[in-house]
Amino acid sequence: MTSVVIDPPLTRWYCDSCHEPIEDPQWATVCWADPTSPDSADGHLQHDLPAAILVVHKGNCDDPRRYTSNQGLDLMLGAEGMQWWASFLWRGPVAEPMKFTADIDVAPVVELFYRLHVPYYEQARRHFNSTEAVQVLDGLPVLTESTLKGLIKGSGR
Ligand SMILES: [Zn+2]
Repeated sequence: MTSVVIDPPLTRWYCDSCHEPIEDPQWATVCWADPTSPDSADGHLQHDLPAAILVVHKGNCDDPRRYTSNQGLDLMLGAEGMQWWASFLWRGPVAEPMKFTADIDVAPVVELFYRLHVPYYEQARRHFNSTEAVQVLDGLPVLTESTLKGLIKGSGR
């Protein structure tokens, strides 16, 4: 029987390109294609949220032609990282309010928050497609630490 090792929370990430562990946040980048564009009607910026946000190893695993914006993973962690993350949605009390597109999809940005700031989420998300995970997660109002750890242990990986 294989024993399951649960990663210490918020210390290891998994590359969205090669799927190997990221042992040091300084070796990784958070990247996305910036969908913000000038609005032709009034010239203001038309904000949308990225359709996908990836966490990848710097170098071989990132694709700056496809994902034109990036930030070092190490800079996206902790309290300062949370402030950086929040700038996807709000740029402070004196900035012009962000004008979002009508069909805004917040899921990729919210999942980034979970990946970077919710203990055990990053390792558990690797098992979200399993039959067991679908049964556990279906209808669950909150993802608790114990649920996420249970998914990691239940997977045997
Ligand atoms: Zn990689």
